[in-house]
Amino acid sequence: MVKTNSWKEVENFVKENLVRADNMRIECGDGRYKPEQSEGAIRAFGGDFGMVMAFAGALKSEGTFIDPDEIVERYYRAVKDFRGEDAKLYYHTDEHKHKEGKIGCGHAAGASDPANKDMYGITSDEARGLYEAFAKHPRSNSTVLEGEHKERGVIYLEGKTHSLNSRRGHEMYFVVTPTQIDEAIDILTPIFSKGLVVPVDAEDVKAYYIRQQYATAKLLGADKLPVYSVRVKPSGHFVMQQLPQKRKTN
Ligand SMILES: [Zn+2]
Repeated sequence: MVKTNSWKEVENFVKENLVRADNMRIECGDGRYKPEQSEGAIRAFGGDFGMVMAFAGALKSEGTFIDPDEIVERYYRAVKDFRGEDAKLYYHTDEHKHKEGKIGCGHAAGASDPANKDMYGITSDEARGLYEAFAKHPRSNSTVLEGEHKERGVIYLEGKTHSLNSRRGHEMYFVVTPTQIDEAIDILTPIFSKGLVVPVDAEDVKAYYIRQQYATAKLLGADKLPVYSVRVKPSGHFVMQQLPQKRKTN
């Protein structure tokens, strides 16, 4: 069983691993990212690929059917508008799965597995199609994570000005930045939607992101870990609270 930390230890981890947000990339909430692999990133399960999955769920629920290549290309155009010409599409694998030729991100792998039917709002075939389209995109950028999952909790970092490095040596946490995810979706959705008969509703994208995040958290056992909400002010001061664990549902 993975060790969990005392309140003081979690607080110290946050204090010592806060960094300025730079909004130039969205990286997965996987705790194994080293500081230099994630610094300043918006953290959302699946990284940019997770956002593509959320857009695909929203499109499907709204009755808009476009192929995976076009979904990825529309997403890329939106991030380019936001991040500039150097924009890349971020996702990750890990050293073990990479060697076996398998998907190394639990979020992408979970959605692509037929056993997890109905959990993600898109089918496993749809998730695989999106993953292939994303991986072959000329601007996709894969980060290879090292080691095993040993997250000691989940940290929701709220606020626009900071990000949090998720790993220090063997100490790691799942990190998600909800305020910045919502803001990114609000900015990206209108650009993504250009030329569509029915523009995508940003609230649908947010709802699918949350649904898919819970699905992966459950599959990775993150729903059994302590969850902390950390609200950071621009000064770097923060208020931390522990959230109740998600009620058990069948
Ligand atoms: Zn991941």
